[in-house]
Amino acid sequence: ANPAAPADVLVVGGGIGGLSAAFALAREGLRVRVLEQAREFGEVGAGLQIAPNCTRILHDYGLLEEVKSLGVLPRSMVMRDAVDGGELTRLDLVDLEREYGFPYMVVHRSDLHGVFLRACRAAGVELVTDARVDGYENTASGARVLLADGRTDEARIVIAADGLHSVARRLLIEDEPVNSSYVAYRAAVPIGQAGRDVDLSEVSVHVGPRCHFVQYGLRGGQMLNQVAVFESPKALAGEADWGTPDELDAAFDATCREVRAGIPLMWRDRWWRMFDRDPIMTWVDGNIALLGDAAHPPLQYMAQGAIMAIEDGWVLARHVAARRAADGSIDWRGALAAYEAVRPEHCRRVLATARAWGELWHLDGVARLRRNTLLRARDTYDYSFTDWIYGPTALTPEEEPPMFTPIPLDPAMALNG
Ligand code: FAD
Repeated sequence: ANPAAPADVLVVGGGIGGLSAAFALAREGLRVRVLEQAREFGEVGAGLQIAPNCTRILHDYGLLEEVKSLGVLPRSMVMRDAVDGGELTRLDLVDLEREYGFPYMVVHRSDLHGVFLRACRAAGVELVTDARVDGYENTASGARVLLADGRTDEARIVIAADGLHSVARRLLIEDEPVNSSYVAYRAAVPIGQAGRDVDLSEVSVHVGPRCHFVQYGLRGGQMLNQVAVFESPKALAGEADWGTPDELDAAFDATCREVRAGIPLMWRDRWWRMFDRDPIMTWVDGNIALLGDAAHPPLQYMAQGAIMAIEDGWVLARHVAARRAADGSIDWRGALAAYEAVRPEHCRRVLATARAWGELWHLDGVARLRRNTLLRARDTYDYSFTDWIYGPTALTPEEEPPMFTPIPLDPAMALNG
């Protein structure tokens, strides 16, 4: 495609982060063009959990009913021990919706991506595929991107939503993804293939030594979604070919019957090695801003990665709307500064908590038993664990709720070994 009309904003990357930001900005009347490297827009993978801090934004966008019609609204989220199968703690998702005003739900990634794609089209976003961006530069009046095929494109603002391996991030820091040595296997299969009774009114998480297993329903309960995550001995030994299917079977050998029954369903031709990055507090370089995984790729244990990306776009668009003059001009410097004042700290907290939460899930021995005792003591209706994350997305640092850390970020210390 040869972009014709000049855009106000170029968004690089058409994942959930890029598309949702493009939609949010187009909704404010801006001309937005998305540049996606792939041949087609799409999402690989399976299910996505979306918590009230995301469904609140989907409601604001007028998209919640459509997403609800595609997903599942489970009644509870239950955490169990993967070894003995015993319940550890739960969230009552019906009560949680009353508490936060918006539901906790699960949806197929490609369905949520499709909702944003259609919303972008309807809002007049220009969607360009086969456009890989290899370089960025600020100009006197905006920013320019350099495409792999030699073309260039420019706009007043460039939003880089180019994911974990972001090219744009190099403008701000020379860092590398951090290898957790954990790998995720996924499966989304018709419920008839489950081969066992699965309670689809639950989001279920089994946590075990160096492994965990998640399952929930998708597409109105027609599909079962499973995620099996484990620490790869080959990764720890420094082998390049790690996380392979033989390791999957061995990792879940010592788990309870319910978990072992799910393992044969996992897709074995694809797996996701789990990387995050250390948090960074600067996301803006002149007229170029990072968004989504490009700015803050997490380990997925908080199930907030896509949500943070969606929040980023919503916050940015709100600040743009607040800084538009009567003649339509926008104080972009102010809008980007306001975005950068609030989002990096929130995402830093989520990234740090995700790492700690993962460590807690994967404990073994006495530490595991102590964790289980603490989790069993938690009151189902105690929302102090979730307020800082499921409450309304903060637009300013003052609105950001205090972080909840009853389990200090080094769980080994808290649990005394
Ligand atoms: P991406 O989805 O990576 O999209 C980046 C896009 O940019 C892609 O389309 C890519 O092709 C394109 N691109 C990349 N480079 C270029 C370039 N140079 N030029 C042009 N285009 C480019 N999050 C949740 O909220 N809830 C969950 O339950 C959840 N579960 C997860 C489970 C697993 C196993 C994993 C791995 C992740 C999970 N996440 C979850 C996290 C979530 O998937 C990601 O955080 C989210 O998809 C990030 O979206 P993004 O748009 O920022 O990046």
